[in-house]
Amino acid sequence: MLYHDLVKVYQALESTTSRLEMADILADLFRSTDCAHIRKIVYMTQGTIVPDFYPEKLGMADKLYIRTLLAATGANEESVRKLWAQEGDLGTITEKVYENKRQTTLFSEPLTLDRVYDALLKVARSEGSGSQEYKTRYLADILHDAKPAEARYIARIVTGRMRLGVASQTVIDSLAQAFATKQDKAAVERAFNITSDLGLVGETLCQKGIAGLEEMHVRVGNPIRAMLAERLPSPEEILDRMGGQAMFEYKYDGLRVQAHIQDGKVTLYSRRLEDLTSQFPDVVKALKEAFTCSSAIIEGECVPVDINTGELLPFQEVSHRRGRKHGLTEAIEDYPVRIHLFDCLYLDGADMTDEPLPDRRTALTRCVKITEDVRFSEARVLDDPAKVQEFFIEALNAGCEGLMAKSLGDGSVYRAGSRGFLWIKYKKEYRSEMNDTVDLVAVGAFHGRGRRGGMYGALLMATYNEEEDRFETVSKLGSGFDDATLALLPERLDRYRLHDRHPLVESKMEADVWFEPALVLEVLGAEISLSPIHTCAHGRIRDGAGLAIRFPRFTGTFRDDKRPRDATTSQELYDMYNAQMKKVEG
Ligand code: ATP
Repeated sequence: MLYHDLVKVYQALESTTSRLEMADILADLFRSTDCAHIRKIVYMTQGTIVPDFYPEKLGMADKLYIRTLLAATGANEESVRKLWAQEGDLGTITEKVYENKRQTTLFSEPLTLDRVYDALLKVARSEGSGSQEYKTRYLADILHDAKPAEARYIARIVTGRMRLGVASQTVIDSLAQAFATKQDKAAVERAFNITSDLGLVGETLCQKGIAGLEEMHVRVGNPIRAMLAERLPSPEEILDRMGGQAMFEYKYDGLRVQAHIQDGKVTLYSRRLEDLTSQFPDVVKALKEAFTCSSAIIEGECVPVDINTGELLPFQEVSHRRGRKHGLTEAIEDYPVRIHLFDCLYLDGADMTDEPLPDRRTALTRCVKITEDVRFSEARVLDDPAKVQEFFIEALNAGCEGLMAKSLGDGSVYRAGSRGFLWIKYKKEYRSEMNDTVDLVAVGAFHGRGRRGGMYGALLMATYNEEEDRFETVSKLGSGFDDATLALLPERLDRYRLHDRHPLVESKMEADVWFEPALVLEVLGAEISLSPIHTCAHGRIRDGAGLAIRFPRFTGTFRDDKRPRDATTSQELYDMYNAQMKKVEG
């Protein structure tokens, strides 16, 4: 397959913001493509070359990219730098450079999909000393033979900014459309949720049809997408929803970890499916000691422990570990963690995700023996709201955020990758009115004034609308930033800077600067109100009005463990608004 054919599809995808049209375009492509190419197309269309949990990452530094572009095209450095200052987007600059290129390259060969893919993989795999030279060489090789439009997308993917706006859900829709029927979409979703590898799902579906997907099971080495909880504000409502009884567990304030264990090897994955193994060698060691079976996938929450008192500490303390390359030994000593296990998704060859929770919990206790650093989540089966409230207070006193209620019925399976009422969270914020944190995505910014002159003064924040795959504005966030954080904001945000509003952002406000939805911040709001200028859940409560968070404050926590699509959803905010109104009325 020629890379040019894929580029034509990219151009068509960029000419629409309709998710349905995108799915149609991709479905047509999949139908006409050899199964051997589906995997690569799926990854590359989403701006990567491997599933997220693989170590290979694209994201070449802009400067290195420009250097390679200059070397590959012989373009004038001065004019390229000028273009860069004007345009910002490396894809557009590259295309312009190619269009202006006078001499046509002799001996150029048309680029194939395989050749571009292989070169990108080599770029991603070049690490360590001398890697810049290798990266440049592999990239220059394909740039040498690229046509303007091809070069545009090579620039974007290699720098880690593909930005076609194609969500996993759209790829799932298009795969179902191409190779099965609409009714089979659930099977495609399930296969993705248990393997976290859409490329593999696409290839299997193309080769073996739906029957092939049904044969797919969870397996050690493929992280399973996390099951998530809904929230309710009172023990009564939770018990009502759970049919009168549920298992209540401490809700630890830590880092969710999925451990894959086989033949004495332990791999840890985060909620975002990143490989955390190297950051937590102490947890790996502790799990090896505590594990008594041959293979398993188990889940738990890693919580920092005060070395002096043995008490649980807040999550921020674990974040000292994350992304740290140097001084890990000190971090382990200063911030030791304990893992509280709460689920078992696979045990000695058996896929446990379709088993009810009591059986999964039994499996967990069967394969782990408790040690100082490996414990189970504190759990109690309760049916009385007063007892739930008591347990809730106990959890708060123990340094937890509240309780997690879990259904115990026959249908209490592990719903990978989905949020539902089989798990319900009950957090301390619900007690004090309108005092709950939410995780919002920065989609724009406003220039600062006064003391903040020359910096960002406030950020335009959005929730995520899952149904429409849109980011909807909900707040202008200006407080809670200390000077150091304010100074850091450009460094964290400018990499996502755009010339115009991102096509997936729905906004009535005009920001001074727009960003690709990427950075997630934890925000504490005082109140949710109706507002004509925000687009979150627009028109759902009252015509012409959306939801807004009043008096928002940044808590100081960047939710780097969340992707933009993991942020608080518009539906959640809508539910919180209704719960809040009920409380006000009641
Ligand atoms: P979410 O994970 O639901 O998107 P979030 O990251 O903001 O939201 P919370 O709303 O605070 O987190 O609660 C869910 C998280 O609680 C889980 O993802 C998990 O990391 C954590 N957790 C702590 N204790 C437990 C437990 N006993 N069972 C399940 N999850 C738990």
